[in-house]
Amino acid sequence: MKTIVIGAGLGGLLSAARLSQAGYQVEVFERLPLTGGRFTNINFRGFQLSTGALHMLPHGPAGPLAQFLKEVKADVIIVRADRPTIRLPLKKHHPDYRHGFKDIAFSEFTKPLSHKDRLKIALLVVSTRKNRPTGSSLQTWIRTQFKDEWLVKFADSFCGWSLSLKSDKVRVEEIFEIIESMYRFGGPGVPIGGCKAVIDALEAVIFANGGRIHTRAEVSQILVENGRATGVVVGNETYRADLVISNLGHAATACLCSEALKEKIYADYIRMLKTLQPSAGIKICLAADEPLIGYSGVLLTPYAKRVNGINEVTHVDPKLAPPGKHLTMSHQYVAPENVKSLENEIDSGLNDLKEIFPGRKYEVLLIQSYHDNWPVNRAASGTDPGNETPISNLYVVGDGAKGKGGIEVEGVALGVAAAMKKIIG
Ligand SMILES: Cc1cc2nc3c(=O)[nH]c(=O)nc-3n(C[C@H](O)[C@H](O)[C@H](O)COP(=O)(O)OP(=O)(O)OC[C@H]3O[C@@H](n4cnc5c(N)ncnc54)[C@H](O)[C@@H]3O)c2cc1C
Repeated sequence: MKTIVIGAGLGGLLSAARLSQAGYQVEVFERLPLTGGRFTNINFRGFQLSTGALHMLPHGPAGPLAQFLKEVKADVIIVRADRPTIRLPLKKHHPDYRHGFKDIAFSEFTKPLSHKDRLKIALLVVSTRKNRPTGSSLQTWIRTQFKDEWLVKFADSFCGWSLSLKSDKVRVEEIFEIIESMYRFGGPGVPIGGCKAVIDALEAVIFANGGRIHTRAEVSQILVENGRATGVVVGNETYRADLVISNLGHAATACLCSEALKEKIYADYIRMLKTLQPSAGIKICLAADEPLIGYSGVLLTPYAKRVNGINEVTHVDPKLAPPGKHLTMSHQYVAPENVKSLENEIDSGLNDLKEIFPGRKYEVLLIQSYHDNWPVNRAASGTDPGNETPISNLYVVGDGAKGKGGIEVEGVALGVAAAMKKIIG
């Protein structure tokens, strides 16, 4: 079966690897000069910065992405990071006051609460196993259960870091799926070599199975005949295919076959596309001679004005920075209404970092912002419409088609696995 994959991001390459392994004749078209999309490295003065992701897989060596990589025989070493922590500010008279803060383990997130609220959480952990809360945002659900604003702050920091959303934009059922995945697969890990190691390994599988990848090859149209995808147009060339996989999310995919989708029978799908909201964010990359965090786990920062969390991946893979240096990266959610004032958001993020690392020496290497057509997520977690499109033999993969409960690239892997099940069986 001749298959065309549009886009060589993680979703496109996972699909191409799996299909080429199953004997499909695969050709990938990527508009950029490099592959990997928002999941590859940019070498800057020996620092392995990235086009998007913070070199972290949310569920490390046991998660859905790691499992998928194993299944397609993509050779990547993924090392579990230290456990996540939460930074709490301390009052001046506190006995532990030295730097003005204290880092507690993620599992101790109830520590700042009263005994009564802690007991209530322990009971909720048991009762929600059988009766999952549904139908509201996480923030609304927390506020109906607790008066203490700490839990909202903590939830915002967690959702901002892992989904680039505020807790009022995340459905409570989605967060419970995510918590279950955390129990099942464990916490984050770092691929040795960073994001690019995953991309390189997938490309090796595709090439070994006879697949082809073209860069600087933008698809301008998806050909549709009698409700069925039959190929794509790249430059002046037409490429025919039995199956088309798009790595662009539903909205951008629909733009490539907009003529075909004008028919009335597709009206519901077009209406649904208008409800999809990409999530925006800012990443700040720092270089330091001395570690700023001191461990490889994520540091959540619920008391910062904008920054949601920070990681320091060089504790797992020192080669992600030049010898003797550390690479530290912060992430912050950007609300849709603030996308127009990104400079202010960046200044607030930089000020946060000064407060989080008081008196510490570091250099800002790179600041990247993500929104609209190059977002953190093409559809807010828990809202995407799955892999299928109303055009037969046209599937969507990637972060616009993740499925439930999958954080970031774990969701991308789950979505690709679901699509492959439909296609290959
Ligand atoms: C700041 C930031 C931090 C993140 N941190 C993490 C993290 O630590 N851990 C994690 O798991 N996830 C993280 N993510 C999310 C992760 O990067 C994405 O989920 C993932 O990379 C999405 O991959 P994709 O294949 O869906 O899309 P993309 O990477 O966007 O791939 C789509 C590809 O299609 C190409 N393309 C578009 N249009 C065309 C066309 N017409 N013709 C041909 N090619 C086309 C694009 O150039 C691109 O290469 C982060 C994202 C950001 C932005």
